[in-house]
Amino acid sequence: MLSGLMMDYPLTLNTIVEHASRMTPRKTIKTKQPDGAWREYSYADFHRRVKKLGNVLEALGVEPGDRVATFAWNNYQHLEFYFGIPCAGAVVHTLNIRLSHEQLKFIIEHAEDKVIFVEGSLLPLIEPIADQLKTVKRYVLFNLAEGQSSSLPNVSHYEDLMAAASDEYDWRCDDETMAMGLCYTSGTTGMPKGVLYSHRSMMLHTLGVLQAAALGPTEADVALAVVPQFHAMAWGLPYACAWVGATIVMPGPHLQPAPLADMIERERVTIAAGVPTIWNGLYHELRQKPRDISSVTQLVVGGSAMPRGLIEAYERDFGVNVVHAWGMTEMSPIGSVAKLQTRHQELDAHGRWDIKAKQGYFVPGVDARIVDEDGKELPWDGATMGELQVRGYWVVGQYYKIENDRQHFTDDGWFRTGDVVTIDGDGFMTITDRTKDLVKSGGEWISSVDLENMLISHPAVLEAAVIAVPDERWGERPLAVLAPLDGGHDPQTLNNYLLERFPKFWLPDAYIVVDEIPKTGVGKMDKKVLRQWHADGKL
Ligand code: ADP
Repeated sequence: MLSGLMMDYPLTLNTIVEHASRMTPRKTIKTKQPDGAWREYSYADFHRRVKKLGNVLEALGVEPGDRVATFAWNNYQHLEFYFGIPCAGAVVHTLNIRLSHEQLKFIIEHAEDKVIFVEGSLLPLIEPIADQLKTVKRYVLFNLAEGQSSSLPNVSHYEDLMAAASDEYDWRCDDETMAMGLCYTSGTTGMPKGVLYSHRSMMLHTLGVLQAAALGPTEADVALAVVPQFHAMAWGLPYACAWVGATIVMPGPHLQPAPLADMIERERVTIAAGVPTIWNGLYHELRQKPRDISSVTQLVVGGSAMPRGLIEAYERDFGVNVVHAWGMTEMSPIGSVAKLQTRHQELDAHGRWDIKAKQGYFVPGVDARIVDEDGKELPWDGATMGELQVRGYWVVGQYYKIENDRQHFTDDGWFRTGDVVTIDGDGFMTITDRTKDLVKSGGEWISSVDLENMLISHPAVLEAAVIAVPDERWGERPLAVLAPLDGGHDPQTLNNYLLERFPKFWLPDAYIVVDEIPKTGVGKMDKKVLRQWHADGKL
């Protein structure tokens, strides 16, 4: 073999901070703080603070490879942790603030977190379990309210440590294969599992996000990450935006529709990313009280399926382009994006919305296949459903501390996503369901996602979740749980509505009305809870 003769330049995250501080030193990072005031500083300041943080971590005794957790909203401090912790050779572990005490304790113990950075307003969520967190040697607090104190043991204050630290620092991430980040899946389908990213995989993912075929932010963008930084690394947006020096807007705890609408208008946001629930709420807010959100060029949505009706409504009512993407914590997380391609330009508006409602094509860097229950590969014909398997530069190779995992990985090196999909001849993927959510009635599959999307496009329905419930005759039958918007959600009306698209056997056996569909820690409908409610006779 003749080896290539190019440099072996490590793919490590310090490259991003250095680059931003030289190329776009005056561009800024803005945060809406807990008290509502804005705090803004430059990438040059950011660079200095990340270096200070390196010294702070060393002084705290953090060694390369140690896990250092964050318990925070989206803000500039959290962005400093995103870079400072991995650039000090340690692993930034983003804890999901919405988990139960039991799950939090499980995850912190499993990760063996040594230090946790905790935001003031979130102290009450972690204080009650602190005496059980044996691995944690220090809590570093920030954003405390005036006069706020804490019952946590071994506490330091972030700004005090930073004030005392030098901004001269030698990065400690010298090997691209070092672990840099740890995210646990949100547990929609079971106990959380840890995904341990390396510098290399995260840098390649960042390059992946920067492709025009993916999200492609540039220096000119103003990016608002509504998706929490604890949800799959805020979908890689902070790393990508920092590398090119885009303006970053962090919403802090202000995630309700009204402040988000104000923020987008005030900051002239161009790229905003969040789950469908967030954009659903924003849409209704804007209908009630209009704001100018015409600056938005990409309203990025993923995490669960974006209803086609909402994609259409954003474009029709506000002229806003929705970019539907699919990903997983296990994929760092970007997998596919539904941007229109040349052949779609000739479609009429309805045809284009059909395409944009799909989960889209796999971005360069991700390889995919679909297989049947026996692992046999299935055709890409847009109709055959199978389990999606993926591999690529930023796809998980093994869960943290789980070895010989035949359930999630195939013998020939693919990761089993647990999503059931079709892929058409042009590589466009549509998610029909998760393997655990499909309804199997009389031997036929019914897609809960298709039913939900259709139900939510009905003007009387705000939210809809369809679950499989056991049935003596058919094995399983669909049951729809609805949060209504207006009157007109009686079963007959909804059945007639569904019959426009689906065969009769797809009709839910019952419609149950609730005030709100329960959500997981990252804002997805929690069907596990619904199934439990049903089993307990609560529905
Ligand atoms: P969890 O697995 O705990 O829900 P993730 O956020 O990693 O946490 O979820 C990944 C899953 O979310 C995917 O496997 C898929 O089922 C679902 N998902 C992500 N994006 C989309 C999308 N655009 N449309 C439909 N489902 C999606």
